[in-house]
Amino acid sequence: MSLTALFKQKTVFSLEVFPPKKDSPTDAILPTLKRLQSLQPDFISVTLGAGGTNHCDGTVAVADLIQNQLNIPAVSHVPGLYQSKDQVLALLDRLDQIHVKNILALRGDRIPGKEPVGDFNHANELVKFVHEQRPDFSIASACYPNCHTEAADFVDDISHLKEKVAAGADHLISQLFFDNQAFYDFKEKTEIAGINVPIEAGIMPCTNKNQIERITQISGVPIPKKFAAIMDRYQDSKEAMLDAGIAFAVDQIIDLVSQGVDGIHLYTMNKSKIAKRIWEETESVFAASNLAKQKANQN
Ligand code: FAD
Repeated sequence: MSLTALFKQKTVFSLEVFPPKKDSPTDAILPTLKRLQSLQPDFISVTLGAGGTNHCDGTVAVADLIQNQLNIPAVSHVPGLYQSKDQVLALLDRLDQIHVKNILALRGDRIPGKEPVGDFNHANELVKFVHEQRPDFSIASACYPNCHTEAADFVDDISHLKEKVAAGADHLISQLFFDNQAFYDFKEKTEIAGINVPIEAGIMPCTNKNQIERITQISGVPIPKKFAAIMDRYQDSKEAMLDAGIAFAVDQIIDLVSQGVDGIHLYTMNKSKIAKRIWEETESVFAASNLAKQKANQN
């Protein structure tokens, strides 16, 4: 079943992992993936080039493990900024060979001091290219509940998001956010703009203060008072920060699922034990929500 069809049937639960460092063996990630398999995710996506590197071997190898050893649909991230059209086609061919037909088409993080290739300056150009060249691929794209840092304003950002969907993106995955109201407001804006593809909410369990500060600095995502209080009070206790960070993510997920979100995309940071704890706390909520969706589909 295609990923797009899946959204009609259930509240999708998906995970993101990143490949091992360039010189580490790919198999190093296998125990993590096996633990994540027990969460029964609908798909697992693998980053490419996030944080400044730009080599796809690790991403393809991990996608291969997910798709063909774990038998879970894999989604390969494909950032366009530093790849030519020929390189993108070669990457799609490699993915095709390992039966991975789902990608997350992105502009990609800028690498300081590195000149973009120029074939894909924005994600919509990449989406259009892949849609035309490989119509059998399913294409997801990124969206930003707190607005992308480079956009002039929300009107600007949503109009570009609409271009990505018009170009062929069939589902969206959001950047992390800590305030669900920001996601609901964003969702309303997309509906007003006529964007009608499923939008998964990106949730990142934040379990240490440095990590959160680094991420929010890069992404421009605001930290709500409730979460700032957790960080201030528990920053010196690893255990308390872990418990509170997990509880915060669980609270976000339960609220989102209750409000009928299309799906939850968990940024695992390859921390399978944390992801497992979150799944154990929310599994029943997904199950009940899926049952309600099935009943509604039958009527
Ligand atoms: P775009 O859609 O191109 O948008 C970037 C900015 O340009 C926005 O401000 C937008 O409003 C504007 N814009 C868009 N189209 C146009 C246009 N036609 N003309 C003018 N302005 C335009 N990065 C990686 O390198 N590797 C990864 O694996 C990775 N995974 C990610 C996964 C998720 C779920 C998310 C949310 C982000 C991920 N990123 C990754 C980061 C992403 O590459 C950055 O956020 C990047 O800054 C924007 O990517 P985009 O695809 O949203 O770009």
